[in-house]
Amino acid sequence: MKFEILTIFPEMFSPYLREGVFGRAVNSGIVDIRIINIRDFARDSHKTTDDRPYGGGDGMVMKPEPICRALDSIEREKRSLVIFLSPQGRRFDQASAWELSEWEQIILICGRYEGIDERIRLHCIDREISIGDYVLSGGELGAMVVMDAVSRLIPGVLGGETSNLYDSFEEGLLEYPHYTRPRIFNGTEVPDVLLSGDHEKIRIWRRTESLRKTLEKRPDLLKRANLSQEDDRILNRLKKGTWGSDAGNKESGSENKERGCTVF
Ligand code: SAM
Repeated sequence: MKFEILTIFPEMFSPYLREGVFGRAVNSGIVDIRIINIRDFARDSHKTTDDRPYGGGDGMVMKPEPICRALDSIEREKRSLVIFLSPQGRRFDQASAWELSEWEQIILICGRYEGIDERIRLHCIDREISIGDYVLSGGELGAMVVMDAVSRLIPGVLGGETSNLYDSFEEGLLEYPHYTRPRIFNGTEVPDVLLSGDHEKIRIWRRTESLRKTLEKRPDLLKRANLSQEDDRILNRLKKGTWGSDAGNKESGSENKERGCTVF
């Protein structure tokens, strides 16, 4: 997977490209990133990439020619997509990340100021993507968000090949809660079932907590989720309030009452 990023602030990407999962993906060559400085394609002595808007008004507009030349300089793969990061684009989500992970080459154009000249949008762009309904000062953060979400879906980028299977949104649900050592923290114990070694009980507990979190935090997701009969049964009980309300936690020192998941 190749990412080509067009920006006037290439330095913004350096720390991000070095660190964590994404840094490892870049170092191992699974993900190939090229940062293209749009300014290098400006032909005047001041390397101008923006100008005043026709019609007047505040703010500057990114000039079309440097962006166009920068795009022309890219060797295009067969399956290549040009994306403009824009608050006016389609809202980015996990399904979009999966779809983008199928492409060979993704070219991300980062706008600044009032945005880019409309003719670039009309003639050179395949898709506009927004990372949310708010306005940022530039597309660079959006480009990082898209690259991160897409690249972690590419085989080999995450350590275990299944480690993203249960992430939030993958099955239309939010993910279940996680615990690690110590066993008791701030008076709250890790749910017993996670220490039981019983894989079936753990599976049902995780599914229940995933459904519970989705019901509590994002009930809108349940309408589109692919739910099994078992899920429907669990959800019915959660809705009736007959399935505990505290993720199975026990407070240390308190009475050892089973409040969480009851395995059926
Ligand atoms: N005047 C533009 C408008 O109202 O649609 C906003 C321009 S914004 C200040 C500058 C640049 O930041 C945009 O061209 C775009 O590349 C980027 N940007 C801002 N908000 C964004 C968002 N929610 N998602 C993706 N990119 C965004």
